[in-house]
Amino acid sequence: MRLDVVTIFPEYLEPLNVSLVGKARARGQLNVHVHELRTWAYDRHNTVDDTPYGGGPGMVMKTEPWGEALDSVLADGYETGSRAPALIVPTPSGRPFTQELAVELSGRPWLIFAPARYEGIDRRVTDEYAARMPVYEVSIGDYVLAGGEAAVLVVTEAVARLLPGVLGNAESHRDDSFAPGAMAGLLEGPVYTKPPLWRGRDIPDVLLSGHHGKIARWRRDEALKRTAANRPDLIERCDPKGLDKKDREM
Ligand code: SAM
Repeated sequence: MRLDVVTIFPEYLEPLNVSLVGKARARGQLNVHVHELRTWAYDRHNTVDDTPYGGGPGMVMKTEPWGEALDSVLADGYETGSRAPALIVPTPSGRPFTQELAVELSGRPWLIFAPARYEGIDRRVTDEYAARMPVYEVSIGDYVLAGGEAAVLVVTEAVARLLPGVLGNAESHRDDSFAPGAMAGLLEGPVYTKPPLWRGRDIPDVLLSGHHGKIARWRRDEALKRTAANRPDLIERCDPKGLDKKDREM
């Protein structure tokens, strides 16, 4: 998968060299390019923002640098054989970024991120590229950050761990919170490791029973309890086929 990020703070993306994403890059599973937006600003001060039409506080990112930057990124990608780009525009007014959307994006070969600063990017930029490729305006939560770079890191990490061969154990996201199938879209319950006794606290007996059926049932019950406590909206939406009668009665 190819990833391009256009930003006025390239250094903000340095965590893309670390841990899971860094290793995926080193192994060639992710091909990441970070671009400085000001490269495409031509006045003496490399200006990328201006005052908003209609008045109001704050500044708006200008069309011209973004248009030139995105055209240049697209030309480079096509030249080197990348195809089917999608533009990701982080914004608090976008659709919520969910595991389902992470799965969808992980199936695309080329993602281009346009994280903004100030009050966001002039709307015409999104409209222009929406005419040429899928554009995903995504929000990582109901709060307002100072810029979209943190959202790029969030989306990239969620997507990268779904790519084939990136996680050591290919099964390990199957039982994650929000995963369809065995977990029916619920939150994952508590997890434990050795030692069996720590500061007088032991672990649930069932986990030592070696009985796979009972362990699976316990995990599902715990997932239901945690989901009911923290995210009752997910219970409403979960796939009832994934749950047996006893689970539904809880
Ligand atoms: N005026 C905008 C609004 O109220 O919707 C907020 C702009 S915010 C200060 C600057 C940039 O940070 C946004 O354009 C976006 O790129 C990013 N950003 C802020 N909050 C975000 C969120 N919850 N999800 C994704 N991106 C966010």
